[in-house]
Amino acid sequence: MAKEIKKIVCGMCASHCRYKVKVEDGLLIGYDREGVKDSMMAQMWARVIGGCPRANAAAEFVYHPKRLNYPMKRAGKRGQDKWERITWEQALDEIADSLDKIRKKYGPETLAITSSGEQNTGEEFRMRFQSLFGTPNFLGPHSCGIGMVLSHLMSGWMIYMPALRPETKCFMLIGANPHQAGPMLWNVIREAVKVWLKLIVIDPRRTAVAEEASLWLRPRPGSDGALLMAMVNTIIAEGLYDKEFVEKWCYGFDKLAERVKDFTPEKAASITSIPPDKIREAARMYATTRPAQIFHTNGLEEQANSTPALQLRYILPAITGNIDVPGGDMMAEPHPTYRVDAELEMRDMLSPEQRAKMIGADRFKLYSWPVFEMVEKNAARVRERPLSSPWIAGTAHSPLAYRAMLSGKPYPVKAMITLAKNQLLTLPNALLIDSALRKLDLHVAMDVFMTPTCKIADYVLPAACCFEKASLQGGNYTLYLQGSEAAIAPLYERRPEYYFWRELGMRLGQEEHWPWQTLEEVYDYRLAPMGFTFRQFMDGKGYDNPPSRERKYESKGFGTPTGKFELYSTILERLGYDPLPYWEQPRLGPSQDAELAKKYPMSLIAGARNRRFYHSQGRQVQSVRRGSPDPIAQLNPDKAESLGIDDGDWMLVETRMGRAEFKCQYFPGIAHDVVVAEHGWWFPEDTSPESTWRSNINAVLDDDPDICDRVSGNYILRGYPCRVYKDKEK
Ligand code: SF4
Repeated sequence: MAKEIKKIVCGMCASHCRYKVKVEDGLLIGYDREGVKDSMMAQMWARVIGGCPRANAAAEFVYHPKRLNYPMKRAGKRGQDKWERITWEQALDEIADSLDKIRKKYGPETLAITSSGEQNTGEEFRMRFQSLFGTPNFLGPHSCGIGMVLSHLMSGWMIYMPALRPETKCFMLIGANPHQAGPMLWNVIREAVKVWLKLIVIDPRRTAVAEEASLWLRPRPGSDGALLMAMVNTIIAEGLYDKEFVEKWCYGFDKLAERVKDFTPEKAASITSIPPDKIREAARMYATTRPAQIFHTNGLEEQANSTPALQLRYILPAITGNIDVPGGDMMAEPHPTYRVDAELEMRDMLSPEQRAKMIGADRFKLYSWPVFEMVEKNAARVRERPLSSPWIAGTAHSPLAYRAMLSGKPYPVKAMITLAKNQLLTLPNALLIDSALRKLDLHVAMDVFMTPTCKIADYVLPAACCFEKASLQGGNYTLYLQGSEAAIAPLYERRPEYYFWRELGMRLGQEEHWPWQTLEEVYDYRLAPMGFTFRQFMDGKGYDNPPSRERKYESKGFGTPTGKFELYSTILERLGYDPLPYWEQPRLGPSQDAELAKKYPMSLIAGARNRRFYHSQGRQVQSVRRGSPDPIAQLNPDKAESLGIDDGDWMLVETRMGRAEFKCQYFPGIAHDVVVAEHGWWFPEDTSPESTWRSNINAVLDDDPDICDRVSGNYILRGYPCRVYKDKEK
């Protein structure tokens, strides 16, 4: 029996854990527990991976009978789920032919592309194809990533990755639940709080992480911005800021001080429901326990006022001197020699005229090309490596783009390529998206399983998963670079995304720009400046972690127009937005619409993570699903009892958009007027079209541009008005 051990980077969620898998006679067996070395770190990783339901189901996932194995062409009406098996050659020829006709007749901008990060090895190639084809309309998530853009605007660097180090004395988590969505970080936090770490958790829920906190603050969903305003107010009013750093390195402190002057903890208390003393205590603990670090995730980004809230999130470390110091908020830098995404993207081929056509860029400017160009120019002054664009540039406004498919305004969007994304489950106003996709002339989807989104495509293409293809992860925004070898060759006719983009590009006149025949050849090219081929890299450690530098601003300043950390953003000012953070009530909140508040008195947190699944993935993998067979929504037990709902009852969560059903889980750790619903729920075992909507929380959320964040266009997934009641039919 031929036994092999392969080094892989798991792509089944965003944690990107590195581990080894066993392969016997070409069959993937699974995680290699025996290979775990005895270092503390290795043991910790082993705990994370050994306890991960998805990693343990790796073989089940690879050999699942419902995996997509062959290219298929729609044989019935859209959504009928009738398919004809075809060859890759036929699929690519026909798709290229349709795209060419659409490009000639309507213009290249009428092709929209969307994709997601995990399981996907193609963002740099997607950008390359897109630049050469000439469409500016890439539809990103628009619900996470604003923090990355804002940190670039304010400092010229990405300040996002959590790097909890022994030096970190205080760690503040805002809207983040690593217990469910960041297992490695959760393990580190759990060890650190036992010994030295002060942990502040800002979350409407008393999560397992909040249980461990030195201080837990429970804001009303969607009111984090008001809390952060008051924390900044306290730090300035009590003189707890780092005067030397502020004077030397920050721009706009006086204007910021003036802006937050009246935003006292008392004022914030009336908005957030957090007692003023607790707000002061948090501000003092954070400002005086140095070095301190903040980590935020979607809980802060998916709010109606996410831009000012995120400005405040970055202002806090800046005024307390916690920027780029060991143990503080590090400015992450790219790998020094690896060829980063920017060197593959061919962005220059996307002309200024085409960039200007990006849908929504005139209204929600944060993700527009002009902003990226400003950031790029400023960053180039202080950084040696080019800035890669995935997720921080050129992202059309999804709600407006899907509306353009329906209305033809500002111009018709005629075709879409959906790659590793299930937008019918993962984006709000899913019914509108469904109608929009059905109107297209061409919809192509590539994925590992048949999803509700794939079902309304014209062509469905089988993707290789993370165990069936090579990948290189990191290096673009972080020094850390890690490689993954294909544990097994792709089964059936599954292919990596690189194959798709290259073959499609070759058929559309891009031949000279795709010189590398395989993914491994591209990786040879990217690793060449480091002196490796991909094979040599993987035969060695399979990762590289060059030493990090601290206080990088000391040599050339910050990568901003003023050369300082911009508390007052001159870029936002130039774009016509408020350069300083502010607080305003969400436009779909109780204070804005009394009628709505009467009918829907509860506050919905949508998008809660369940550690067994990654977004809408994994519902068909039995060992994973067994532990969480049904969609769950949490209610405070007192509230539930007052509504006649027992623990485990089916109940309906209703908004002005519709209703979705969930099993009630009693959870005392939330306020009486809050309900927390999981997202991404569908039922692969039920092939009826209705099953897509049954427990789809995104089908009852709105993405109306008028209620989105004014700057980024983000929609409201926290604090959405709703009501709940027992499902009497169950
Ligand atoms: S699925 Fe599990 S093992 Fe894989 S990256 Fe995520 S946490 Fe790590």
